Amino acid sequence: LAAPLYADVAGDIGVSFEFFPPKSEKMEETLWAAVQTLAPLEPRFVSVTYGAGGSTRERTHQTVARIVRETHIPAAAHLTCVDATKDEIDQIAREYWEAGVRHIVALRGDPPRAGEKFVSHPGGYENAAALTAGLKKIAPFEISVAAYPECHPDSANAQHDLDNLRAKIDAGADRAITQFFFSAETFFRFRDAVAAAGIDAEIVPGIMPVSTFAATSRMAAMCNTDVPEWMARLFDGLEDHAAARQLVAATIAAELCRKLYAGGVRQFHFYTLNRAELAYAICHLLGKRPAKADKALEAAA
Ligand code: FAD
Repeated sequence: LAAPLYADVAGDIGVSFEFFPPKSEKMEETLWAAVQTLAPLEPRFVSVTYGAGGSTRERTHQTVARIVRETHIPAAAHLTCVDATKDEIDQIAREYWEAGVRHIVALRGDPPRAGEKFVSHPGGYENAAALTAGLKKIAPFEISVAAYPECHPDSANAQHDLDNLRAKIDAGADRAITQFFFSAETFFRFRDAVAAAGIDAEIVPGIMPVSTFAATSRMAAMCNTDVPEWMARLFDGLEDHAAARQLVAATIAAELCRKLYAGGVRQFHFYTLNRAELAYAICHLLGKRPAKADKALEAAA
């Protein structure tokens, strides 16, 4: 019989967690509980998204600033080029630096109305590469950018997408975090293509749990992410079974991570949707334990 699943994992992984800024006090409590649950796993960083068109500008700032003030976790703020001049974006970046934020996830952003072509703001940054270069002039931020294993929808072809990724790395980005995907092979093919193109940057897979199959499928269609037919079958009939659906979602995400781990991946970025349990469970399956528990085990050995 083959070794049990997860028998070969060693906990030698680095993790990061993505949150979105809360809209209400209740959501803030949920988010904060998630941060506190995940903090003992000593993430490399946690990041907070920036709503379409800068709609969450204040809330993103408040959330990141609170993480910096109240935890020891390095916090990253997402920032997009949408609907803002270079001066406005530069000012936001300076405020982040002054608040102790040292890491920005630099993005172009999506057009304010879905389906329209992206048009940069007159006087704004035209894309993520230009934003990255601009941020580097303001302060020596650590910068993460986005990458697309299945090609960005605006991209003419895979080569164009790789050239764009190279431009972002050349502009000073330290790593790329991928759009979500559901097939480990898709990630491995992309990783190989990046290496073959001579792009020497860390490519961290972005892991997205399925919340509801319908919502995930809608999002996937907008992002060019393939949703395999077997996934539709697995979620079929679970529309009214939230708990069972979560278990299935956790199983699928954990299995994806296990395959990635087996293929040499050691850094994972989780789109947490502000919930801790799923990311925590997957980290646990991959052998990642809270720092204190590790020390206790060492002492007992
Ligand atoms: P870019 O890398 O600038 O470009 C995207 C594509 O457009 C490229 O692949 C390229 O083919 C094409 N392109 C770029 N410049 C040119 C040019 N000059 N000429 C022709 N084609 C060009 N969105 C948010 O609004 N808020 C967030 O917080 C957020 N967080 C994200 C986090 C991650 C990890 C990821 C993967 C995505 C996130 N997004 C977020 C979504 C992102 O904003 C969209 O995918 C957006 O459409 C592209 O952003 P980008 O930074 O990849 O753009």
